[in-house]
Amino acid sequence: MSLLDKFERYPLTFGKTAIEHLPRLTEAVGAGVEFYAKREDCNSGLAFGGNKLRKLEYIVPDAIASGADTLVSIGGVQSNHTRMVAATAAKIGMKAVVIQEKWVPHYDAVYDRVGNIMLTRLMGADSRLVEEGFDIGIRKSWEDAIQSVKNAGGKPYAIPAGASVHKFGGLGYVGFAEEVAEQEAELGFKFDYIVVCVVTGSTQGGMIVGFAAQDRADRVIGIDASGTVEQTRAQLREIVDNTADLVGLGRKIREDEIHINPDYAYPAYGVPSEETNDAIRLAAKTEAMITDPVYEGKSMQGMIDLAKKGFFPKGSRVLYAHLGGAPALNGYSYYYKDG
Ligand SMILES: *Cc1c(COP(=O)(O)O)cnc(C)c1O
Repeated sequence: MSLLDKFERYPLTFGKTAIEHLPRLTEAVGAGVEFYAKREDCNSGLAFGGNKLRKLEYIVPDAIASGADTLVSIGGVQSNHTRMVAATAAKIGMKAVVIQEKWVPHYDAVYDRVGNIMLTRLMGADSRLVEEGFDIGIRKSWEDAIQSVKNAGGKPYAIPAGASVHKFGGLGYVGFAEEVAEQEAELGFKFDYIVVCVVTGSTQGGMIVGFAAQDRADRVIGIDASGTVEQTRAQLREIVDNTADLVGLGRKIREDEIHINPDYAYPAYGVPSEETNDAIRLAAKTEAMITDPVYEGKSMQGMIDLAKKGFFPKGSRVLYAHLGGAPALNGYSYYYKDG
């Protein structure tokens, strides 16, 4: 029995994602904590995949039913989400208009030519660059894009940043929690903690609802990468409440079931600290696991640092949710020119 049985799902992913043991990272950190990763970054053949596809699987049926011909969404210049919206549109035979705002104070000569935005363009999306700064909420540029599709005689279907404040945005990661429980039964042990990067909120929000049904939502440790943690926390709270209602969880999620750590987002969204870059290098050199400077590098840094500080009791098994994002590395070539 799944909380998601009553919802329609359009398959965009391969199915269950692999759980991988990380023995060399475990040893290198040396904190007596076993690390594992659930590879959401390898979840699909669509343009390198990632967490947004798991969410979009529950949104696409609604988009198709609406009679829309164009998906309209928004993100930063190197947005993984708009890449995934472009991929979804190509796969289901719709058009895509994606607004790419200047969310990151980062200047690399090819930042707006390579990685995610290049793939987005290659898949035929109409990618529009806009000079607005970082904000996870509803943006005027997005509303203007929706109107522009209407003005051109098209039928838009609106998907908010990160597919998060969409009514079905939290469902995909409810499924993640159920999948983890099934895999634990096969593995013969349970994870003590799940570490996940959080920005627009529906990845961690969905997980919290899914793990609440197993009475362990408080073991989901969100690592903020937004740098605007209060807005993220408020948006996540809404998503949690909406999603719990929608799936019929039957109770309200308590505040003590929501953990977001704000300590690793510095210096800003999309800008890695030296410590973030060290974590990216360590995961790459020990496990060939590629993390990015915007999201996963920060949650990797958080997981390693929390382990070293003794946050996880010795002997804990910690599951790192690897949500994707590696294409953005191409926009940061100068940082890693020497490895
Ligand atoms: C979008 C994204 C996140 C953050 O997920 P939210 O659901 O927006 O909180 C983390 N990592 C990667 C690689 C992403 O693309």
